[in-house]
Amino acid sequence: MQLVFASNNKNKIREIQQLLPSNIQILSLEDIGCFEDIPETADTIEGNAILKANYVTEKYGYDCFADDTGLEVEALQGAPGVYSARYAGEQKKDDDNMNKLLEALLDQTNRKAHFKTVIALNLNKKQQLFTGIAKGEITLEKAGSQGFGYDPIFKPEGLSCTFAQIPLEEKATMSHRGKATKLLLEFLNSSL
Ligand code: IMP
Repeated sequence: MQLVFASNNKNKIREIQQLLPSNIQILSLEDIGCFEDIPETADTIEGNAILKANYVTEKYGYDCFADDTGLEVEALQGAPGVYSARYAGEQKKDDDNMNKLLEALLDQTNRKAHFKTVIALNLNKKQQLFTGIAKGEITLEKAGSQGFGYDPIFKPEGLSCTFAQIPLEEKATMSHRGKATKLLLEFLNSSL
């Protein structure tokens, strides 16, 4: 069977394909001829994952899954959340986003935060959501050069360094995206 992953990130697609039985073929947006920007206009992480998955299913007729991720900071009532990519503006620059967050937390002792990934799956006319959370805290300054996004200022629970200071494979075992993906794969492997 064919299942679309609403993404054009070749690494993500290859990674998931390798973890699935060979009778499930993962297609990218490019593979199905979808070259338009899918609207991500919802005001929740769940909402955006659902928007993306539904867009592909309704417009192209494929079973599909889509993911959306955000960083939710306790002292900022969950911000930047669904706006994580463009927190410091439409230029979507990681460094600008991190600087803005460090500044917003300058006088804060509560630095608790978590990443949340939601995957929405449309399969056989039913929708299912899978959520992965990585708890931690925002550090006082940047450290490390691996990963992307807010990784240099996020220290996961149980580690004494940031996500940007550990290898990608290690991050995947404890990350929000890794956990949500594991739930999706368990579901697909048991139901198909
Ligand atoms: P997306 O939904 O995966 O595109 O993630 C939205 C934004 O959240 C990204 O642009 C990053 O700023 C941030 N983000 C998502 N995942 C991670 C992560 O694993 N580490 C750090 N930042 C992340």
